[in-house]
Amino acid sequence: MSGKQPKYIFVTGGVLSGVGKGITAASIGNILKARGLSVNIQKCDPYLNVDAGTLNPGEHGECFVTVDGAETDLDLGHYERFMDIELKQSSAVISGSVMSEVIADERAGKYLGKTVQIIPHVTNVIIERIKKAAEGFDVHIVEIGGTVGDYEGLSFVEAIRELSVQVGRDNAAFVHVVYLPFLGASKELKTKPAQNAVRDLRGLGIVPDVLVARSEEDAESDVVEKLSLFSGVPKEAVITLPNAETIYEVPLTLQRRGIGQVLADRLNVASSTADLKDWEKIVQKAKDTNAPTVNVGVVAKYLNNEDTYMSVFEALMSAGWANDVQVNLEWIDAEEISQDTVAEKLKGVDGIVVPGGFGERGVEGMIIAATYAMREKIPYLGICLGLQVAVIAAARGAGVVAANSTEFDVGTKEPVISTMEDQKGKEATGGTMRLGDYETIIQKDTLAEKVYGANSVFERHRHRYECNNDYRDQYESWGIRIAGLSPDGNLVEMIDAPGHPFFLAAQSHPEFDSRPGKPWPFFNGFIASLK
Ligand code: GLN
Repeated sequence: MSGKQPKYIFVTGGVLSGVGKGITAASIGNILKARGLSVNIQKCDPYLNVDAGTLNPGEHGECFVTVDGAETDLDLGHYERFMDIELKQSSAVISGSVMSEVIADERAGKYLGKTVQIIPHVTNVIIERIKKAAEGFDVHIVEIGGTVGDYEGLSFVEAIRELSVQVGRDNAAFVHVVYLPFLGASKELKTKPAQNAVRDLRGLGIVPDVLVARSEEDAESDVVEKLSLFSGVPKEAVITLPNAETIYEVPLTLQRRGIGQVLADRLNVASSTADLKDWEKIVQKAKDTNAPTVNVGVVAKYLNNEDTYMSVFEALMSAGWANDVQVNLEWIDAEEISQDTVAEKLKGVDGIVVPGGFGERGVEGMIIAATYAMREKIPYLGICLGLQVAVIAAARGAGVVAANSTEFDVGTKEPVISTMEDQKGKEATGGTMRLGDYETIIQKDTLAEKVYGANSVFERHRHRYECNNDYRDQYESWGIRIAGLSPDGNLVEMIDAPGHPFFLAAQSHPEFDSRPGKPWPFFNGFIASLK
């Protein structure tokens, strides 16, 4: 392939993980896009899972689904929202899939006679995947998960080092995100861990071009000078990044502190100055504490980690900003909801959301919450599992007391939700779900039609179970209605409840399509109904 030479920006992290490397990478993408450049972005994760679909969301956060059905790390969600792009499978590189490719090639005889090694065989696969994702773009950003020096991430670090040599100095820049701890006793930000982190990176043959120094409070100029002196990174390329009120502020801060110009100069890319006016409006709305509040109760099970429902959270917030309200989310543990506690637990919420989920835990509580929403005419938004529990709730409410999903009771007498034919027997394994974008044909005169203002929509899916078509003709007597169908009419994609002020549920995950400046109709309609 001829084509232009893309410029690479490699984002690594030091000191600790979880200090906002993903948001930093996404913000760099945001700024460079606002400078008129075409930008792609990719995440390299050092796990031996073959995709992120089999990771525990309670530990690792949400599994983000791309349009082409890849199950990926939640950082891809940040990338999509900050850069307003749709990423593909190629943007997610995880060690397990790299290793599988190398081993499959070895078995297929591709390396016949050679000793197969991490360097160069594994690193070459990584380099190829990075180069492929970069093709055709002005700039390609690659974030390396974890912290530099982690044993398991070394092949990625080596791969980007080699790639930077291949493409030459003008075409590759390294951004290292470090953390400055604050020492209460002497009331100062300490730079030593950051200095060591830069040394670790240098020890692996990489000299950072930009240092993003994260801290709780803003750093003074003497800290910048010290970091610059010890790291060899010019002062103007040491970008301090204190905690922000909202993550959406990060591109504005990084831009103000000059990262866009530093990178454009370093990579010698012709670009305009970044126009972040629309983004500023988003941040203004996000920080508008005078806006009235609506209370949304999210009834779910993985509540020990806020990242589990990251995209649902962001979609609800964005819909709030578009409606000039602040959304106050109350996380309600589904396992604590029973017939006796439901009224108490849901007291004061203006609307109820039941997001996606897997497994039996908490499901009875979700069904009770959906029943309550239906009966008390409280706005209800069901996402994937949230649709399935709504159907079960409606059926039970109408006297089909044994109604259940075969996911929670394999032998249920009333399988109102059950596996699709071609999924049977594959319930417990990875990579067997209905994944990625599918079209929904929105039915006439339904709440879905009102909310979407369209007769068709594409949304991402990630599920195994479906509405059982044997029960379709009972929906009306259960008080629900089909509001969306697959194009062949075979699969129920959305339901609503005639006569209810707002009861809408989708088999898809509409949250993945929402953007901070362009909230998705599904969420917009729900929040508007709460005002
Ligand atoms: N567990 C359900 C299924 O597999 C719902 C999945 C989800 O909410 N993403 O169909």
